[in-house]
Amino acid sequence: MVLHAAGEPLRLEEVPDPVPQPGQVLLQVAACGVCRTDLHVIDGELPRPKLPLVPGHQIVGRTEDGRRLGVPWLGWTDGTCRYCLSGRENLCEAARFTGYDLDGGYAERVVADERYCLPIPDEYDDLQAAPLLCAGLIGYRSLRLAGDPERLGLYGFGASAHIVVQVARHEGRRVFGFVRPGDDAAAAFALELGCEWAGPSDEPGPEELDAAIIFAPAGELVPAALRALARGGVVVCAGIHMSDVPSFPYELLWHERVVRSVANLTRRDGEEFLALAPRVPLRTEVEAFAIEQANEALDRLRRGRIRGAAVLRVD
Ligand SMILES: [Zn+2]
Ligand SMILES: [Zn+2]
Repeated sequence: MVLHAAGEPLRLEEVPDPVPQPGQVLLQVAACGVCRTDLHVIDGELPRPKLPLVPGHQIVGRTEDGRRLGVPWLGWTDGTCRYCLSGRENLCEAARFTGYDLDGGYAERVVADERYCLPIPDEYDDLQAAPLLCAGLIGYRSLRLAGDPERLGLYGFGASAHIVVQVARHEGRRVFGFVRPGDDAAAAFALELGCEWAGPSDEPGPEELDAAIIFAPAGELVPAALRALARGGVVVCAGIHMSDVPSFPYELLWHERVVRSVANLTRRDGEEFLALAPRVPLRTEVEAFAIEQANEALDRLRRGRIRGAAVLRVD
């Protein structure tokens, strides 16, 4: 499924098989998760995708010698810059990203630099493993950057939140789910997964929060989440793109409240998170689509009509 120009639907096309370069593996794709970042790429909200582009960066595939590997968003870094040399390869200015700078997994075959691939735990089948590779991983990094909150708010109850709530509960945190006002299905899903409360995102919850993670790409949630925070609390913005953040009174930030973003992932995040997942054990709820239905899956995600995570199945 190929993107030729931002704002257009993906087109189903026959393209030549990718040829692995030195250090790369050729993978037969089994499944590829659909991420909100794919929507931002396709809708033209990110500045410089490779075109034409095969999107998709939550890839579960098999090498020619039968090993099962995951290909995440971080596809390559230079390994030499000040960020790479200080354990922050997620910030590398020369980084290349899967399904953005590099062709991704909305395809039957993909090549990937083996040093950035992640082994998939045996406990997960292909479809259930796919959302771990970005929704899970970025959610995990966001949770780590939220500090050590007793009371955690999750804003936007999609693919990431449905995994993060399980990690947070496993760690003994109290979790509050904030959903689009009136979205009763999302609120019920949040409660099912272990939130002790779920309610509308435009009002503070029943208790002050020590941290909030915003997964929805809506800038107005930043002041809304700050309003819900206790002193010293942190708001983590987990998405790659967000609408403008409206201005807000300094009083909301006062008392050492913090607003920060999370960018990309490191390989170390991937190794830690995939080792943790079967120990929780995390379960992913997946809506599967045939690869030809990628546009439909993306459209459902755009309209907030996916329960858990959307995954393309590649036969
Ligand atoms: Zn670098
Ligand atoms: Zn993603």
